[in-house]
This record gives sequence, C-alpha cells and structure tokens, in this order.
Amino acid sequence: MKTFDVIIIGSGLAGLQCAKLLSQQGAKILLVDRKSDLKKGIHTTGIFVRKTFEDFEFPPETLGKAVRRVTLYSPKLKSMDLASEHDEFRVGKMGVLYESFLQDCLANGVQFSDSTKYVRLQLTRSFTIVKLERNGEEFEVRTKVLVGADGANSKVARDLQLDENTEFIVGVEEIYQGVPLTDEPRLHCFLDAETAPGYLAWVTNDGEDVHIGVGGDYAGENPREALEIFKQKVIGKIVNLKGAKLVEKRGGKIPVGGVLRKIANERGLLVGDAAGAVSPLTAGGLDPAMRLSKYAAEVIWERLKTNDPQVLLNYSGEAFRARFVSRLWMRRIIATFTNQIILEIGCAFLRLPLIRSFAKHVFFGRGSFPDIENVYPRSDTKEARSLAEV
Ligand SMILES: Cc1cc2nc3c(=O)[nH]c(=O)nc-3n(C[C@H](O)[C@H](O)[C@H](O)COP(=O)(O)OP(=O)(O)OC[C@H]3O[C@@H](n4cnc5c(N)ncnc54)[C@H](O)[C@@H]3O)c2cc1C
Repeated sequence: MKTFDVIIIGSGLAGLQCAKLLSQQGAKILLVDRKSDLKKGIHTTGIFVRKTFEDFEFPPETLGKAVRRVTLYSPKLKSMDLASEHDEFRVGKMGVLYESFLQDCLANGVQFSDSTKYVRLQLTRSFTIVKLERNGEEFEVRTKVLVGADGANSKVARDLQLDENTEFIVGVEEIYQGVPLTDEPRLHCFLDAETAPGYLAWVTNDGEDVHIGVGGDYAGENPREALEIFKQKVIGKIVNLKGAKLVEKRGGKIPVGGVLRKIANERGLLVGDAAGAVSPLTAGGLDPAMRLSKYAAEVIWERLKTNDPQVLLNYSGEAFRARFVSRLWMRRIIATFTNQIILEIGCAFLRLPLIRSFAKHVFFGRGSFPDIENVYPRSDTKEARSLAEV
C-alpha cells in the first residue's frame, strides 16, 4: 500500500491551493478528483475580488479584464450605478486557472489521480487508510493527514466526523460567447424575489463573455426554470444575445451558514466549501478557499514537522464564526424579503447616501473573508485558543 504525508480529496481551488503550498515545502502528496478533466463540470462564475488578486499571485492568462463597475437593479429594473477607482473584480478563466495550479503541483512532485472517487476511510493507530475507486476498481492508500476539499457536500467531513454544511443556496448560470459588448466590463446584479429568492440574479460582462445566472433558496423548485424567467426579463433590455452562442452551463450548491465549527481533528481537516468557507452575505467562496487553504497548509506542515497529530487541532472554525455573525444575520434578514413590492420599496432606500455607501462597502469592501492573521495570530496558539473562546 502506498503511503503519503497528505491525501487531498478534491481538486477545486481549495484542494489545488493546499496541494500547491504543501508541495512547495516538500510534503509527499496525493491529490485526487473524481473528474477526468478539471476544465469540465466547473460550477463557479469565477469572480475574484480585489483582495484576492492583490494578496495572491495568479498567472496573467488565468484572470479576465478588470471590472470597476456594478449596477444594482430593483425588481422593476430601476438601476443604481456604483463605480470604483480601483480594479475591483476579475473573472477567472477557471479551466485555465485549475490547469495552471495543477501544473505547479505536478512540477513540485504532487501525484495526481483523476477520475478517482473517494469511497471511505478506515482508521489505524498511526495512519488513515483511504479507499478510492478508479475505473470501477477500488484501491487503498494511507496517509498521515487527510484533507477534505471535496466541496459543499463533503463525504470526508462526514467520515472524519467533523461538522457538515446544512444551510445552502443554489446558483445556476449560462455563459454566452459572441455577445456584442458596447459597455466596459460590469457586474449587473438584480434583487428579484421571484427569480432569485434570498440572493441575487446576475448578468456579468467579463470583458469577453457574458454570464447570466440566478441564485437563491428555491425550496425544491427548479432554479433552471427561474433562470429562464430571468432571461426573458433581461434579454433585449440589459443584454443583447443576438448572434451569441451558449457555450457552457454551470451550477451548484453554495454553503451559506458560515465557516463550520469543527473543521479538524487529529486525522485531518477541511478546506474550501467543505469547511463552509464562503461569505454568507456575498456567497463568494474563492477568496475564502485561497486564504483558508493557505492556513491549512501551514498547520499541516507544522504537524508533519513535529510529528504531532494534536497540532491539527489548532485549525478551528470557531474564531471565523465570531467574525461572520453580522453577515450571517444580514443574509438571513435579506432572505425574508420574499415579496417583490416590499423589495422594490427596499431598493428605493438604496438611493439614500448612507445606504448607498453601505452597498458600496458590500461590493467594494475588503471584508468578504477575514485575514487569517487577524483571526489566528501567527505562531501564537495560546492567543488563537483564547480568540476561539470569545
Ligand atoms: C453558480 C455558482 C457561482 C459562484 N460564483 C462565485 C463567484 O463568482 N465568486 C466566488 O468567490 N465564489 C463563487 N461561488 C462559490 C465558489 O465557486 C466556491 O465557494 C468555490 O469554488 C469552492 O471551491 P472548493 O475547491 O472548495 O470546491 P469545489 O470547486 O466544489 O471543488 C470540489 C472538488 O472535489 C471533487 N470531489 C467532490 N466529491 C469527490 C469525491 N467523492 N471524490 C473525489 N473528488 C470529489 C469535485 O469534483 C471538485 O472538483 C459560486 C458558486 C456557484 C455554485
């Protein structure tokens, strides 16, 4: 049986970032994904906020043009423009980005197993045996640390008996090429209780393509039907799809209950959506995936260096939760606006200077996910523990 320092289940942004950073330290890593090709089955729009591309390095070809403008619409399509003097967003070319991160991992010696499904685990005294399946055949590998980077419905979380996500919204979108773009790149965001209950619908002009999507709590209804209704509302008014070609459909569940409390034990830990690392207010999970995985890689490296499994217990979601309380409640309050008329009235308040500056803060602020340094001061686990107790 092959033995690894770390086995990472899931090669989305969180798993790739964790594998990339740990492999730079020299850890022996197996990275696994059930997909045969990381460029396929992408579920995210891929909007990166300024904080992420300022704090982390991305090869230039992996990110789209800078976006400085947001237009916010009421249910009756009354609009309000927000502009920033900074490059606030860039839409990731996610297939290219995943491939670029994967190539960095491979160059650092990471073993990658595609088309490979995580099945279950078994604990022995000093190792975790991980059962995987590839092309219908099961095989076993063992590891000192198991990382669940397997998304919103993490099986690793369940099997490691860590916390699991329970609060979700669903997002679906279509991407069109060849849209005649007369405007500069812009995020058009729609408050619309009918097609995006509790969240937003969007038309994203990323400077090359156009993403049209809806997100919300559909309570068992089909979000693709909501997307069709939304398209009828905006095509011809906000976006012209004449001559455009539908090139991709994306979608998936987004955990919005905030970072989970118990995200590690002595055998392993969770990163990205598996850890609930998504801003409850904006539903953005890419910045949290980058940041939490960086912290996870540091903790895992410390555990490998010291050969002390207890080190992993320093990786806790408690302190993040404290920072999310207000955003969590704001999202829950917004989710109660299920009536179009009340939402329309609410949108009128957005024109008031104070509310407008709050909207600017939500879209352009740097607070979607806390800096890890502020949550867990470096190399000071005592302080980290006292923070966790607050
Ligand atoms: C429609 C939509 C739009 C979004 N738009 C944005 C946005 O614009 N900006 C933003 O910041 N956030 C956005 N999000 C959220 C963001 O995409 C996620 O938070 C982020 O991609 C999470 O990354 P991850 O690596 O944790 O998970 P994932 O990207 O879900 O990766 C998990 C990986 O694990 C693999 N996997 C799962 N189970 C197994 C298994 N049993 N065995 C092997 N492999 C497995 C999957 O194949 C997948 O590759 C959006 C989400 C949705 C659904």
